[in-house]
Amino acid sequence: MKKLVRIAAIAAAALMAVSAAGCSSTRSLSDVKNSGKLMMSTNAEFEPFEYKDGGEIVGIDIDISKKIAESLGVELEISDIAFDSLIPALQSGKADIVAAGMTADAERRESVDFSDPYFNASQAIIVAADSDITGPADLADKTVGVQLGTTGDQYCTNEDGDSEYTVAEVRRYSKGMEAVSDLMAGRIDAVVIDNFPAQKFVENNEGAIKVLDTALTEEEYAIAVPKGNTEMLDAVNSVLAEMKESGELDEIVAKYESALS
Ligand code: GLN
Repeated sequence: MKKLVRIAAIAAAALMAVSAAGCSSTRSLSDVKNSGKLMMSTNAEFEPFEYKDGGEIVGIDIDISKKIAESLGVELEISDIAFDSLIPALQSGKADIVAAGMTADAERRESVDFSDPYFNASQAIIVAADSDITGPADLADKTVGVQLGTTGDQYCTNEDGDSEYTVAEVRRYSKGMEAVSDLMAGRIDAVVIDNFPAQKFVENNEGAIKVLDTALTEEEYAIAVPKGNTEMLDAVNSVLAEMKESGELDEIVAKYESALS
């Protein structure tokens, strides 16, 4: 009898392994807990959400992710990859979550699930301090730098034709900083990037560049999880809800707001 039970258990386990491999290689919440680590992917070129301070990756998204790992009783493992590789990393199971100042938009929702939003953002325009560009309408005959694969790239490229303002030419960079360097060297006329990082670029290059007042979009950042992983999504949402409720999220944002000013 005992032997039969054992055979049945082995058969069931084999069947589960086959079906798990067949449908996806993403990890369940219990896989994460059993492995002792939460694999978070980000693109650490986006101060103050994720950036390098010395050798260490720090930022608002890192602090939030640490809380999520802590709530699951596991270590946080960060991998720093290109922004446009983040969603593929989730889909292939290389990442359990993505925390990257990522805007929860309809197109991405087809490939991943998003947590509740944790930050309101917009696309800002950075120009040289002495530029004669005063608003988005002036970009119509200008060359604009964006970070590849971001909502700023989508807005400026305007593939679906719904952007209110248009630009003459778009240059795509893998890092926002490279676009800002080209702006300061006079190789492009403006950079379109998220407002909080835009503010940081201006703070870090005082006197050389400025942010215009008009924002181009309204967006919300959320944490992405593999599509259909509701256990992971609920775990992330409950940590976010707690952090909002206790005021900890606001404190973290405020800490990074003043860190460099
Ligand atoms: N919020 C923008 C997006 O989701 C940019 C994010 C980033 O560059 N890290 O596309």
